[in-house]
Amino acid sequence: MLFHLGEMVTATQSVSDEVLELLGTEMNYTVQVVSPEEEDRELLDSFKISYGEDSGDEDDLQARPPVVTVMGHVDHGKTRLLDTIRKTTVHEGEAGGITQHIGAYQVATALEGRERLITFIDTPGHEAFTAMRARGAQATDIAVIVVAADDGVMPQTVEAINHAQAAGVPVVVAINKIDKEGANPQKIRQQLTEYGLVAEEYGGDTMFVDISAKQGTNIDGLLEAILLTADAALDLRANPDMEAQGVAIEAHLDRGRGPVATVLVQRGTLRVGDSIVAGDAYGRVRRMVDEFNEDITEATPSRPVQVIGFTSVPGAGDTFLVVEEDRTARQIAERRAARNRAAQNAQKRKRISLEDLDAALKETSQLNLIIKGDNSGTVEALEDALTKIDVGDEVELRVIHRGVGGITEGDINLAIADNIIVIGFNVRAEGKATELANREGIDVRYYSVIYQAIDEIEAALKGMLKPIY
Ligand code: GDP
Repeated sequence: MLFHLGEMVTATQSVSDEVLELLGTEMNYTVQVVSPEEEDRELLDSFKISYGEDSGDEDDLQARPPVVTVMGHVDHGKTRLLDTIRKTTVHEGEAGGITQHIGAYQVATALEGRERLITFIDTPGHEAFTAMRARGAQATDIAVIVVAADDGVMPQTVEAINHAQAAGVPVVVAINKIDKEGANPQKIRQQLTEYGLVAEEYGGDTMFVDISAKQGTNIDGLLEAILLTADAALDLRANPDMEAQGVAIEAHLDRGRGPVATVLVQRGTLRVGDSIVAGDAYGRVRRMVDEFNEDITEATPSRPVQVIGFTSVPGAGDTFLVVEEDRTARQIAERRAARNRAAQNAQKRKRISLEDLDAALKETSQLNLIIKGDNSGTVEALEDALTKIDVGDEVELRVIHRGVGGITEGDINLAIADNIIVIGFNVRAEGKATELANREGIDVRYYSVIYQAIDEIEAALKGMLKPIY
């Protein structure tokens, strides 16, 4: 029948949605094409669970702290700013408390005499922001765009603005490095009007704050601007009185504690003992710790918390929800895992057949990568960034395997084929992996800075271009 419809395909190939619908009509079936999101909603419906909305009515909603992501051009001071904020403001009287990196933290600040909390996502840059959005999880309420006063608006500044605007997230501009000679904050205010960010003093409604992340200047002013922007533009409320839902920000496999995931509660209250499912991982919350490594028993909306008790590692950006019974959590996770596997297989088949054709037609050469990293957030961010490198149609980059943890012998075995580079991001080779790699001549590269990885891989791709005569 497909041949009759003009589709020259065999049983192992995929066809387009339109062809499927046509085929259905021919065979007297109604074909309904559902998106992964719809499919997931149907899955949850079958358990009488709804995700993404606060239960109850208006009266049940309570104010929650804003969740902030810091974005901007490389070297403009995002990491330094996140460190400074973390150090200068400690919440709940935990003076001198030493924070550990769990992917997000909360700080307290006073506005008009009232103490208020702000949650910061502790992964600077728009990679994490876009990776999360790509999975349908919008975790950020406000974007702080950092611009170095001595450098001005740069390509990634513009990218960050575009991402925030596309997501409909209000922006606060932090003009950083005002301690430096040649710093010109006014010029940056002018430059940014071109991108729709007009400072209040120029008649716009974007708050600009001049800061020095290095010297800790005017950090309070920035925090105040974030709260004022939240109060003016957003109605941040959630129902704390329901089973918790939210998003996993970061996750990794810990040697001693097993899978550890930092989740951001978006509605409801998460408690020790809850049955939880995040993406295709599930478990029972055995322990929760905050950014001070202190045990906590409850996490309310906008609270980031590290959860111990998953049976496998969830993906960064996966949504999570609490269900009444362990069994339900397991069933949801298993159904999602089965669906993901099926989708991956279909994708693989489609990709390979298309690429074979492509290669035969154009002789494209391909650079294959294996990416291993210290947590799922960075692995995804790196993959995202690398696959965006574009040096033309002749060469193509493909990530054939990715994962959290050190580089293993298994990874090297996978790489024993042409043109496979193994990347370790903040991780090293384990066991006999180095020995095997050396013996087999496998190119293993270690990075701890995303931009360095991008530069080198881009150079490798360019090196594969055929010379033009
Ligand atoms: P990121 O790439 O945006 O995360 O930038 P970093 O936070 O790593 O900062 C890049 C460099 O600028 C580092 O050497 C920082 O110490 C420095 N830096 C950051 N903020 C300031 C500042 O306010 N003043 C000065 N003078 N240097 C800063």
